[in-house]
Amino acid sequence: MEKRALIIVDLLNQLFPNPPISLFHSCPYTLLIATLLSAQCTDKMVNKVTPHLFAKASTPKAMAALPLETLLAIIRPCGLSPKKAKAIHALSKILIEKHEGQVPDNFADLEALPGVGHKTASVVLSQAFHIQTFPVDTHIHRCSKRWGLSTGKTVLQTEKAVKKIFPKHIWNKLHLQIIYYARQYCPAKGHSIEKCPICYRLSLI
Ligand code: SF4
Repeated sequence: MEKRALIIVDLLNQLFPNPPISLFHSCPYTLLIATLLSAQCTDKMVNKVTPHLFAKASTPKAMAALPLETLLAIIRPCGLSPKKAKAIHALSKILIEKHEGQVPDNFADLEALPGVGHKTASVVLSQAFHIQTFPVDTHIHRCSKRWGLSTGKTVLQTEKAVKKIFPKHIWNKLHLQIIYYARQYCPAKGHSIEKCPICYRLSLI
């Protein structure tokens, strides 16, 4: 790893040695649903909603049987609820019909599910199946640019760039560490390099 990357990993390991997965879940299916609900919503709000949802339905079969109006009413606080409810119903049916009620453990099958994009698939593969992926969200995209790791305009370009820089065996942990760091230290607007451990160290190179 180049010096810049080593400094970042070293500081993140000191600040967030064991970053927890922030979405409440008990299996790959509940993680998939929680991740889908987290689109344009905070993890905190998703974690408020999902205990109630999963008490009613925590399997594809139970979810497919849940009336759409009930599902809509429960997930409304997460935003985009009509779209998300339809996707949750449809993907639950597909899991039953095509995957024996199981969440698939590969990109192609996950990304073929309604409402599941590349980032959601990456999160599920990383956190439910422990496959090394690097899900890039808006926080990682922002930090990567500011730390000089990527000039990518899209999250996919940034994902490619960071995957080249950091060794694969740390991708899962590192993506969580950067998200925690960004939430705490790297606001989208207004920042101070002197108060910021990573940018301060990088400015000394
Ligand atoms: S100084 Fe801190 S807040 Fe600003 S870009 Fe660097 S990491 Fe982010």
